[in-house]
Amino acid sequence: MNNQNWVDLIRDIPDFPEPGVVFKDITPLIGSPGGFSAVITELVQRTPKDIDVVVGMEARGFIFGAPVALALGTGFVPVRKPGKLPGETITTEYELEYGTNALSVHKDAIGNGARVLIVDDVLATGGTVAATARLIKELGADLVAVAVVMELGFLDGRKNLSEQGIDEVISLT
Ligand code: 5GP
Repeated sequence: MNNQNWVDLIRDIPDFPEPGVVFKDITPLIGSPGGFSAVITELVQRTPKDIDVVVGMEARGFIFGAPVALALGTGFVPVRKPGKLPGETITTEYELEYGTNALSVHKDAIGNGARVLIVDDVLATGGTVAATARLIKELGADLVAVAVVMELGFLDGRKNLSEQGIDEVISLT
């Protein structure tokens, strides 16, 4: 399946999760055997190979991050909402349009100096990636790159991340 075909499997859902928002729904893409395999292949082709660990954020970052980790021969580390991980965790909060959100990771999940790739489905404002990057830094690891399937350019995620020193952002679309 070529690039054009798998992109067509991401559908727009108007007014989700609230009026005025057009949500990019990746479920037809991951539900298509050819589409899912094509997007993972492209993610792997486009990302640096000298990676020690892939980090994915709850929940769609798990879907794309885990197969990328398998292909790169690395482990996969889940970043989750607080209260979900059973071991000792560190947590960071970040601002949403209305209110705040928080993300946690196991303290012992990523070694000091590890070279990390963040994988997620969609980059919007960049708040989720920036929060994850803070967790990675707090554990003493090195964020090498961020890879996403789709970037919503009008929300300035790439610019916001660059202002925080995160410049290696790979987006397939
Ligand atoms: P950000 O923190 O960059 O504003 O938002 C990105 C996070 O929200 C990602 O974890 C992503 O899964 C989710 N997200 C935001 N907008 C969309 C969207 O339109 N489609 C999908 N699939 N996820 C979205």
